[in-house]
Amino acid sequence: MTMDRATMLPILDTRGRHLEDLRISVTDRCNFRCVYCMPKAVFNSQFHFLPRAELLTFDEIARLTRLFVSLGVKKIRFTGGEPLVRRDLEVLIRQISEIPGVEDLALTTNGSLLTKEKAVALKSAGLRRVTVSLDALDDALFRRMNDVNFPLAKVLTAIDFASQAQLNPVKVNMVVKRGLNEDAIIPMAAYFRNTGIILRYIEFMDVGTTNGWRLEDVVPGAEIIRRLDQRWPLEPVPPTRPGDVATRYRYRDGKGEIGIITAVTHPFCHNCTRARLSPEGLLYTCLFGQSASDLRSLLRSQASDRDIVSYITGIWNNRTDHYSEIRRSLTPGLPKIEMSHIGG
Ligand code: SAM
Ligand code: SF4
Ligand code: SF4
Repeated sequence: MTMDRATMLPILDTRGRHLEDLRISVTDRCNFRCVYCMPKAVFNSQFHFLPRAELLTFDEIARLTRLFVSLGVKKIRFTGGEPLVRRDLEVLIRQISEIPGVEDLALTTNGSLLTKEKAVALKSAGLRRVTVSLDALDDALFRRMNDVNFPLAKVLTAIDFASQAQLNPVKVNMVVKRGLNEDAIIPMAAYFRNTGIILRYIEFMDVGTTNGWRLEDVVPGAEIIRRLDQRWPLEPVPPTRPGDVATRYRYRDGKGEIGIITAVTHPFCHNCTRARLSPEGLLYTCLFGQSASDLRSLLRSQASDRDIVSYITGIWNNRTDHYSEIRRSLTPGLPKIEMSHIGG
């Protein structure tokens, strides 16, 4: 049976939130060891990454995506781990881009594997937009933060390739950690102002259990805005849609816009419309999820589309997540899924 989007009603969770976005983590592996995400002490040669047979196949991901779209999902983002380490990702992107009802198709990447040819291939497969993560403009600091000695210049070139391939608007994600890269706040803005590229500052989050998160390491979004505004006056930009995670500002001199993701200091759980699919087919309804629902078993037990849709509907209808609104000093220690497993 095929699910017809037009026949489905949008589904709501217990807090009245729709299901609109699906973030698909295509791998738990990464070629970086960013200190705030995959500390080397944990993600070393002893770490047990998922074997290939455990990963959802492209056909399984495409089938699930079609069912999610029938339930109201319009925006899809590929993430990881590093999504570009998954071979032939553009094949999956083409499959997903052909699903009627998919309005936005984006990718978050560290940029290390984003060659000119890859950017063109992703675009022609139907990818609309790319977000590249970059935390510093000083080569030595950047190498220290990715912790695999990866050079800054290659990521800057990858950002150019994304722009040239019209994967627009290209966004750049910068995680800001107190005492580590806060001095890069202004240089990053100076570099990306007037380029059409949208820089987004992200508060360091207590995702997972391995990154040694402490509240005092968070540089609050309000402080970032204050610092920027002193240098280049800013004004707020209204959100384009309620589920947007970034608060937007533009430079008053017309040189572009920036975003701030204040997941710690100003949580946005009240309009969180995102579901997250892990590489092995677990459905998480929160980035800070402590439990998940196994969709792979359903897929591999010959469940019908109707069965899967009704299972997902039940999960979403019962969703209560609002972790960032109830974060306390005790919660960072809870057993939570790692960012490198489920994506941002
Ligand atoms: N590897 C890809 C990348 O880095 O763009 C995609 C996956 S990565 C987990 C997705 C996003 O999460 C990146 O922009 C990264 O900077 C961000 N991130 C990772 N750990 C974080 C943390 N502890 N707090 C805030 N953002 C984090
Ligand atoms: Fe890899 Fe992205 Fe995590 Fe850095 S933030 S370690 S690039 S998954
Ligand atoms: Fe959504 Fe969970 Fe983040 Fe709140 S804490 S915005 S519910 S992912």
